[in-house]
Amino acid sequence: MNRYKTLMIVMFFLFVFCFSKVNANVRHYSLLGRCFYVDPGHGGRDSGAISSTFMEKDMNMILSNKLASELFNRGAMVFLTRDGDYDLSRSTINKKRDDLYRRVRLINSSKCDMYISIHMNASPSSKWQGIQVFYSNILKENKLLAALITDSLSSNMKNVRDYKKENGYYMYSKLKVPGVLIEAGFISNSNDNYKIRQNEYQDIFVKNVVNGIEKYFNN
Ligand SMILES: [Zn+2]
Repeated sequence: MNRYKTLMIVMFFLFVFCFSKVNANVRHYSLLGRCFYVDPGHGGRDSGAISSTFMEKDMNMILSNKLASELFNRGAMVFLTRDGDYDLSRSTINKKRDDLYRRVRLINSSKCDMYISIHMNASPSSKWQGIQVFYSNILKENKLLAALITDSLSSNMKNVRDYKKENGYYMYSKLKVPGVLIEAGFISNSNDNYKIRQNEYQDIFVKNVVNGIEKYFNN
C-alpha cells in the first residue's frame, strides 16, 4: 500500500510537471500557425532617409531581422520582402514604383495573415520625434492593429505618437492582407537617432510590436 501511495505521489508530480511544461509551451508559441511578411523599407540604391550616423535602409533591415526573429520565436512562419541591401525592382524606367509593386505582389500572393512594414521617419525640422504606426483604411482590421501595437508600445516606451491613417501611399492602398507601417522614430531627431542605434532599445521596440500583434490575434 505504501509503495502504491508513493507511486501515486510520483505520478501526480510528474503530471503537474508535464502539464506546466505544456502550458509554458502554449504560451511561448502564441503565434503558432500564423504567417507574417516583414517588409524592410527601401534598399539598394534607395537609401531612404539619411543621417550622419546611418542610412534608413540599414536600420530598417536591422529592425526587420529582429522583428522576424521575435515572430519566429513565438511560433510564426516569417518571410521578408528583402533579406539584404537591394531593391526588388527589375525595371530601369520607374525603379521605385516597380520595387513597391513587387513587394505588394509578394505579400498579396503569400496568403500570410499579416504584413509589417518597417521604416524610419524624417523631417526638415529636427524637433519632430517619436515612434508612429500608420494604417491604410483599405481593410478595417488595419486600424485595430495600429491601435493595439501603439497601445503596447506606449505602455512600455516613452515617445510614442498616436497612430494615424496613411495618406493613400501607393503600396499600402494595394495590400489585401492586414498590416501596418511602423515608423520607428525620426532619423532627423538626435534623441530618436541615438536611441534606435541601441541594441537593448531595438529589442524592447520589437517585443512590444509583437505583443501588440499577439493582442490583435487574441482579440
Ligand atoms: Zn522610409
